[in-house]
Amino acid sequence: MEKKKDFLRAIVEEDLASGKYEEVVTRFPPEPNGFPHIGHAKAITINFGIARDFGGRCHLRMDDTNPMTEEEKYAKAIEDAVHWLGFEWDGPVRHTSDYFERLYNYAVELIKRGKAYVDSLSEEEIREYRGTVTEPGRRSIYAERSVEENLDLFERMRKGEFKDGEHVLRAKIDMSSPNMQMRDPLLYRIRHARHMRTGDEWCIYPMYDFAHCLSDYIEGITHSFCTLEFENNRAIYDWILDTLRLGPPRPYQYEFARLNMNYTVLSKRKLKELVDSGKVSGWDDPRMPTIAGYRRRGYTPEAIVNFCNSIGISKANSVVDVAQLEHAIRDDLNPKVPRVMCVLDPLKVVIENYEGAEELDAPYYPHDVPREGFRKLPFSREIYIEREDFSENPPKGYYRLTPDQPVRLRHAYIIRCKEIIKDDDGRITEIRAEYYPDSKSGADTSGIKVKSAIQWVDAATGYRAEIRLYDRLFRVENPQGPEDLNPESLKIIHKALVERAVIEEKPDERFQFERQGYFYPDPVDSTDEHPVFNRIVSLKDSWAKKSKRGEESSKRVPEKVIKTKSKKEGKKEPLGEEGRVAPLDKAQQEIFERYRRDLGLREEQANPLARDEALRSLFEAGIKRGAVPATLANLLLNEVARELKSVSPEELRYGPGELAELTKMIEEERISVKIAKQIFEEMSRSGERPEKIVEEKGWEQINDPQKILPIVDEVLTKHPEKVAQYREGNRKLLGFFVGQVLKETGGRANPQVVNELLNRELK
Ligand code: ATP
Ligand code: MG
Repeated sequence: MEKKKDFLRAIVEEDLASGKYEEVVTRFPPEPNGFPHIGHAKAITINFGIARDFGGRCHLRMDDTNPMTEEEKYAKAIEDAVHWLGFEWDGPVRHTSDYFERLYNYAVELIKRGKAYVDSLSEEEIREYRGTVTEPGRRSIYAERSVEENLDLFERMRKGEFKDGEHVLRAKIDMSSPNMQMRDPLLYRIRHARHMRTGDEWCIYPMYDFAHCLSDYIEGITHSFCTLEFENNRAIYDWILDTLRLGPPRPYQYEFARLNMNYTVLSKRKLKELVDSGKVSGWDDPRMPTIAGYRRRGYTPEAIVNFCNSIGISKANSVVDVAQLEHAIRDDLNPKVPRVMCVLDPLKVVIENYEGAEELDAPYYPHDVPREGFRKLPFSREIYIEREDFSENPPKGYYRLTPDQPVRLRHAYIIRCKEIIKDDDGRITEIRAEYYPDSKSGADTSGIKVKSAIQWVDAATGYRAEIRLYDRLFRVENPQGPEDLNPESLKIIHKALVERAVIEEKPDERFQFERQGYFYPDPVDSTDEHPVFNRIVSLKDSWAKKSKRGEESSKRVPEKVIKTKSKKEGKKEPLGEEGRVAPLDKAQQEIFERYRRDLGLREEQANPLARDEALRSLFEAGIKRGAVPATLANLLLNEVARELKSVSPEELRYGPGELAELTKMIEEERISVKIAKQIFEEMSRSGERPEKIVEEKGWEQINDPQKILPIVDEVLTKHPEKVAQYREGNRKLLGFFVGQVLKETGGRANPQVVNELLNRELK
């Protein structure tokens, strides 16, 4: 089967071909804070599948860095899920906690390089200082601590001298980075909590951004695949490995779109709420989208893996139709499982002209005739049929048993109704019938025409069974919470009847109960004395037609849904869009590497520059004129690139010289980042040199505290109540004061200085 390669496999293939790595090593890194769900199955299929396809290895790593939420039972559930889906991890199960000591040492190394500091702002202040997407953040005053002081504090954090939240360790990167994640991200926090594996050994725990890249590095991972939400974290991933000068070979992160599915919630937090509130019977409730739930319901691992492969790997988020998963289950079960008979709502039929008993030969696989496999089907005078297979006043087009219309009993005889017996309330309790002795299935010489065959179960030998009819857990496409639950997601039938072979022969684990659906004995509750069957999936998609009902009551706009193509429509192509990014060609790759190596550009800077000729030539010329590489790269990629969408490079009113000048002014802190944008706009309008613009407009950044102090005082005098509130503990107001001072100075005051002054004045 020739299958189009997804973009992740294309990357791996290239990296192996180019000799970047000798072997591909991937990992699946779940946090053991809940049971894995179908989204994790996708990540498992990708990580283990790619390793398998390229003869590499895949690790299973419990990302256990938050002792408050993690438990061994979840780790166990994850291991079970991976095995059940048919994958085997390389070596032992690994844990981020295995590396706590090494991670600690890496953190010490960062401190020694002046690239990390202990911050003592409160959680709230840290959030406030971070700025917003449009406003740069401000650096904490504690960022000025000396290396010695940081080393001492960090060691004392480890020793447990401080309370939770008193200090954190942060990377010293860039508080005005347009990527918010890069604004001095947290690396360690204090948590006096018992860890499921390391007990009380540690009271500081590494954050995901710090632990993940280094754990990948320690394990020799080559390709670190994760979901799109982590796109902005990639810069930290690279920053940490690069700053510690680790590798090559070192791992790189690549993102793919997570699986979203309609009628389903895929968030461990939301699933845990359902469990904790008792809305479902547990993580393995057969309605849950967890691997444990699907497994208990009767889904097969093959069907789930097929589904994961069929949806493809994409770089664009979309919503997969849950019907597609249900199709995958039917597709898998349909050829495999035996057909047997079950009656959900039994109506007694007494065949008056039948005496004694017999055993009929009935194939288990009537859909697959050459396949062997028969059971003896007991038949006698009293049988049960499905209540709805008899109609006293049949509507038009009713093909089953009526007072005037005979019907065939599947694998047996044709019967006709002679008499209807009712109770005092008028409810039918029994049908008296008569059979045609020469109408036996396979040897029918009766010449009687019937329009259909119905299932039945022999009264003397059939077994009572409890049947659990499961349906979708949520009734709307885009469920948010318990209010969207489908009240009919579970219907229990206590007195169904199944034919003898289902209990006594067990030809398979799963069955098709003819005309009803696919069923599986509940692995927790079912016994031979009290059989319980879960409906895995109905025979047809009953939601395709009725799906209107839920949606009308819900006003939510569904995201783009990838609709299932039915099998008849032919194509079996994966439905996900192949969001493949064209690889760099050889020349581009060389440029990319040179920019990374010699100019210290980050991957996301070097890559687009290597690809875009116009930007690249401006970049090279700017460097020759002394521009600061990273700053110039940002200017080009953010500002110039935008302009080049509407004008050609020759039409730009500035050149590399002006750009270089601007980068130097930013670097020397003569202008703020905010002002730099205004200068840029002015440059493209007037073509003036930045120096001149700054001079004319008076936009020079004000760094001198003596000049800023009077403005600070003025602002404080103007807002006496706010000052009082601040002093009473409303620290949120700091941002307000900073904003006021910046406004007064037309955005020219150095925010860091303003911050420091305010802190001093407000004491
Ligand atoms: P949730 O959001 O459901 O709580 P998570 O992302 O917090 O999940 P982790 O245990 O951190 O769960 O995830 C382990 C791996 O599985 C990660 O690499 C993550 O990207 C991946 N993953 C999680 N959810 C999905 C999904 N819906 N589709 C594909 N991959 C997923
Ligand atoms: Mg998570």
